[in-house]
Amino acid sequence: MRWSGLVYGLVCIFVVSIAQAALAQTTAVAPPPPEKGPASDERPVDVAKIPAKKLFGAESRAAKLAPRAIGFYSRGCLSGGEYLPPDGPAWQAMRLSRNRNWAHPDLVDLVKRLATESKAAGEWPGLLVGDLTQPRGGPMTSGHASHQVGLDADVWLTPMPERRFSWEDREKVSAVSMLKNSLDVNPEAFTPGVVAIIKRAASYPEVERIGVNPAIKYGLCKAAGGDTPWLAKIQGWGGHTYHMHIRIKCPPGSNGCRSQGEPTGTSCAVAERWYADTKAWLENPKKAPKGPKTKRKPKPPMTLEDLPDACRDVLAAAPTGGPKLLAETIVPPEQKPSGLVPAVAAAAPIPIGEPAGPGVFAAPHQLQPSAEAALAVPQPKPAEHLRRAQQ
Ligand SMILES: [Zn+2]
Repeated sequence: MRWSGLVYGLVCIFVVSIAQAALAQTTAVAPPPPEKGPASDERPVDVAKIPAKKLFGAESRAAKLAPRAIGFYSRGCLSGGEYLPPDGPAWQAMRLSRNRNWAHPDLVDLVKRLATESKAAGEWPGLLVGDLTQPRGGPMTSGHASHQVGLDADVWLTPMPERRFSWEDREKVSAVSMLKNSLDVNPEAFTPGVVAIIKRAASYPEVERIGVNPAIKYGLCKAAGGDTPWLAKIQGWGGHTYHMHIRIKCPPGSNGCRSQGEPTGTSCAVAERWYADTKAWLENPKKAPKGPKTKRKPKPPMTLEDLPDACRDVLAAAPTGGPKLLAETIVPPEQKPSGLVPAVAAAAPIPIGEPAGPGVFAAPHQLQPSAEAALAVPQPKPAEHLRRAQQ
């Protein structure tokens, strides 16, 4: 019995020590990871390969450099950008969360002049200003192919109401289409005031061209009674049913800025041909020939390598500009799940402009609540020359 008791005891000790050893192994602290060797398996991020829209879209302030539009409208960037205040005596900037009310100072100045001079002349009650560009220009996170050098401005063809829009209104209110169908302007929206504001915009010598939907160009030709010098700057572009796209020439001092040159294909005869061709196409749409569909590969996004070298300096420069309160609350949309900036920004001190004179302007069109659908007008494919003109 004594022997068997001893054996039993020894077996117990053995079992317990094995269990302890096993436990010790499982609770042991993991050995430190091996030290990283020289950067053979760890590649540094190559900024030149990052889509340029991410780099430029993340900048909330302008580059503290001399004002300069660099490159081409659809391939470039902006140094020394200026901020168009959200409110002025005759304008209100829309969609403030996009932080795209920046431009070359010459364009900011032009927008202000167009707003105040057309109002003073009793032509238009004030501008609703859409996108200009990002603080440092460059490819955009969404939307436009152009607007990259700070020389393009989208101005709504909806008259500004007398009341000040709140921050939220500026996100939600949508512009009114000038078209009643793919061919014809809607006289309810396409008023003499619209003709007057486009004509005035075209009258400034620094304006190189103005893009509007071909149906609007056709409507302008009719309203003007045929070709006039100011119509030569108005080009029919796809889309652009609710706003005009003002493009100015390269400003003096903008080395490396490439102008597009005189607009072509802007005669009223071209507009009439567009009207007839589109009408025929709508009445008898031609089906695409049958055969294997070849899918076009989407173009890879532009990188810094695709842009002028000076755009690297623009990205690297110290920030400047913008009203403090507003600019600090604006963050790139990717960082905010809602994509919107809190309404607190509306509390930023906004200069109140002069109220519109009583009875001077007709009541603005009923502004509809936001709906991209409100802007969607079926458009036949624009002709190749129209597509190219927009670049
Ligand atoms: Zn535009």
